[in-house]
Amino acid sequence: MTKRNTAYMQLTRKCNNKCVFCSNPCFDKEIEIKEIEKRIRFYKEKGINELTFSGGEPTECQFLPEAIKLAIEYGMEPKIITNGVNLSDLEYAKKLKKAGLNHLHISIHSHIEKDSDLLTSKKGHFKKSIEGIKNCIQLKMQVDINSVINSLNAKYLLKFVEYFTKNFPEIKHYVFNNIDLGEADKQLKSRAWENKWVIARFVDMEIELFKAAKFLENKRKTYRIERVPLCYMGGFEHFSTETRKIAKKESYKCIFIEKEKEDLFLELKDPREERRYKGKNCERCLLNSICAGLCIEYYTLFGDSELFPVFKKPEKIIRKIE
Ligand code: SF4
Repeated sequence: MTKRNTAYMQLTRKCNNKCVFCSNPCFDKEIEIKEIEKRIRFYKEKGINELTFSGGEPTECQFLPEAIKLAIEYGMEPKIITNGVNLSDLEYAKKLKKAGLNHLHISIHSHIEKDSDLLTSKKGHFKKSIEGIKNCIQLKMQVDINSVINSLNAKYLLKFVEYFTKNFPEIKHYVFNNIDLGEADKQLKSRAWENKWVIARFVDMEIELFKAAKFLENKRKTYRIERVPLCYMGGFEHFSTETRKIAKKESYKCIFIEKEKEDLFLELKDPREERRYKGKNCERCLLNSICAGLCIEYYTLFGDSELFPVFKKPEKIIRKIE
């Protein structure tokens, strides 16, 4: 089996949502199809075989179907990360399927309509995202769910996964990302800084995260959790996105669209390379070598008193990952 070599490419920074915690805030800047092809070629030379188009909202880019076709022509499996709103239009979903899209991540942050619309700042978009999920499943595309952990959904993560596994049993994979509080594109600050009420504390998500993780395992679903330190992932540490990257020595690559300056190619060889923090308790923690710790911005806001050392052998977790 060919080793997965994955990368991300922003196609636009326009977005039809305005999520209160967005880590890639929107602005108007278009890239042409010729430039998209140039960037795909650049990735080809790096041996990339799986390319995820993101944004902003990639379905707001008029060139998305062509970009999907190009990725396939260059021997890559195309994926998108989308809020699913534009996929509520069945004809548009069919167009992407016809272009060769078979796998996508749909981002949705609550199963409760009013919370979801509050988080995206768009009334009616919860219904559209759900419609988008239905359309893609109907078209036999593989749909994964992406969700940002926040102060609202942290109270009911179990109910969230129960809702989706019940209504969409076809969905096999779930991704939970704790809010990115930094400047993901090295330029613009996450919108969570304007909306601090939306940031969940680790102590407030701990129990629900555990329940949701165990529920998914019992249902034989797979999942990943990002930006949560291992001391809050007891028993399911091997599903930490960062720990997996550390164990497998996987890098993160993304081409960001930048505001009023040249776009940026970023490669992180190790998730601990940037904007991370380890506290005093980490020094005595046996998982220190495989944990990415805290996002530095979380530490700036709340300190590190929530961290506690874990006395578990890292080898066991690495073996599970392998
Ligand atoms: S104490 Fe530090 S090293 Fe240990 S699991 Fe928590 S954040 Fe990671």
